[in-house]
Amino acid sequence: MTLERVSTFGVSRSIVEESEQSLQAAGADGYELFVLWSGVIEDDVFRVRNAHVPKQTSYQTEDGLLVRVDGAALHTLNVWLFENNETLGVQVHAHPTRAFHSHTDNTFPIVTTLGGMSIVAADFARDGLLNRRTAAFRLTKTGWAPIRKPWRSPLIGVGA
Ligand SMILES: [Zn+2]
Repeated sequence: MTLERVSTFGVSRSIVEESEQSLQAAGADGYELFVLWSGVIEDDVFRVRNAHVPKQTSYQTEDGLLVRVDGAALHTLNVWLFENNETLGVQVHAHPTRAFHSHTDNTFPIVTTLGGMSIVAADFARDGLLNRRTAAFRLTKTGWAPIRKPWRSPLIGVGA
């Protein structure tokens, strides 16, 4: 099974909450943050097992916010994924106001596998990760395709 064929991303409530708290904490200081979800593929389900916050540098520029994940931190994460038999399936970040995929988000994603997902929370995730202002995208051969109403999409299953 490949990520491309996955029809549901299953994630526990506790990983969602842990990720929300990371995004909110960075947002309280005025910065964006990337949280990465890794897990395993079982049949056509991607089961999120772990949330990672790799070492990253956030900048406040005149054009807005910018985040760079350290190359060495990505390498460390890749080694961890290999040793733990998990793959990267989802990248999560938050914007200060509206959620969308910026040019930078499209051009420099961290998740680069076809079928991978990118979730963008609005308002630094103050009102949670998955709500009506949340945007989500799936990487296809032609780029990042928007997922309709991600907060109630069957693609994202939040369970116990
Ligand atoms: Zn962004």
